[in-house]
Amino acid sequence: MTESVAPGPAGSYPPIEGPPSRSWYRLTEEIRACRRCPLGSRRQHAVTYRGGGRPWLVFVGEAPGSREDREGRPFVGRGGRLLDRAIEIVGLREGEYGILNVLKCRPPKNRFDARAALTCRPYLDRQLRILSPTSLVTLGRHALRAMDPSAPPITQAAGVPRTRPAGPPVFPLLHPAASLRSRVMASRWHSDVRRLEEWIAERRPQST
Ligand code: SF4
Repeated sequence: MTESVAPGPAGSYPPIEGPPSRSWYRLTEEIRACRRCPLGSRRQHAVTYRGGGRPWLVFVGEAPGSREDREGRPFVGRGGRLLDRAIEIVGLREGEYGILNVLKCRPPKNRFDARAALTCRPYLDRQLRILSPTSLVTLGRHALRAMDPSAPPITQAAGVPRTRPAGPPVFPLLHPAASLRSRVMASRWHSDVRRLEEWIAERRPQST
């Protein structure tokens, strides 16, 4: 079930992906119309979600980049290609997972804006309530901090699953774009993805 919503300043939004429910459509439209923080006046598109309607696993990224801002979909640039490759490696099938960001609008110079993230946070919480995944994978330090404020720095935390007092467990990964920075980071990314593959095999619901 897809539905077009009002065009953004750069043109039409892509069809809404996710659960075919009124509450999800209303929430997506609300985000697409949002101007609650200064990022709303600079963006081309608010970026909400791509993925299945009943995902048991959700990837939580940090913020849209330039390509995501242009297209209105999360993780469609270089980092997105790396993430899609990792998704293939770990054997997730379409419909099993979803992808979203903490911040829905692109911050200037792609620098994560913690103040805007506070204003934006209720959207993330509402999205996760509707999606109800049983597992989360965070991508990058800001995403990890948002989902698990007590986690150690990302270089220590990445690749090691974490339980939380409330909500589904989290598997922290580096941000995929970080793996482009050096061979060491690329190697770390790949070894963490292999660990994620094992975690997914343990946690995958029987019915999928
Ligand atoms: S970043 Fe979030 S709070 Fe700010 S304008 Fe975009 S959707 Fe609204």
